[in-house]
Amino acid sequence: MAIPFPKLKYSLSALEPFISERTMDFHYNRHFLTYVNTANALISQTSYHDKNLRGIVSTSVGPIYNNAAQAFNHEFYFNCLIAEPPLIPSRLSEELARQFGSADAFLKSFQESAIGNFGAGWTWLAMDPVTKKMEIKNTTNAGNPLSDGLSPLLCIDVWEHAYYLDYQNRRKDYVIGFMNHIDWNFVARQFDECMSLFR
Ligand code: MN
Repeated sequence: MAIPFPKLKYSLSALEPFISERTMDFHYNRHFLTYVNTANALISQTSYHDKNLRGIVSTSVGPIYNNAAQAFNHEFYFNCLIAEPPLIPSRLSEELARQFGSADAFLKSFQESAIGNFGAGWTWLAMDPVTKKMEIKNTTNAGNPLSDGLSPLLCIDVWEHAYYLDYQNRRKDYVIGFMNHIDWNFVARQFDECMSLFR
């Protein structure tokens, strides 16, 4: 299979009470798996069948893009989460401070973007691999920074299926919970990788 269904790095109940086991079971085992299976079925008879996921997302459109991007986005999102969040590594917090005024200013701005992202979509911290400029980006549906040539560093899923069983209409409470469960070591690894490109 070209597009993998990666194992979760924590148990389905690990993020409780922020995200219930029931939400995680639906989100990971049904929504995410369906995107992976659908994308694999759609690419099976095309030239995308032997490309890697980032390559497919960066170059496809229509149903292949929608399902492949959702596969990428969900893998990325689950990797951004952790039960006991580490501190932001200093090399990353210093760069956030340089580009957003302070790490706290970045966090506030990211949180507000996610709360205000209208409808189904994703909120990202992304970085231009050439200029190294970071930006907070809201996308809708399967939208993804890879399509704009940007490297994703952090994302939150704000589709209702990510939080409705636990929070119903209270997206703000879900977003605040997310801010307290970010795996900053994963984010810093994406940052390091992007910093090393085109050098
Ligand atoms: Mn989702």
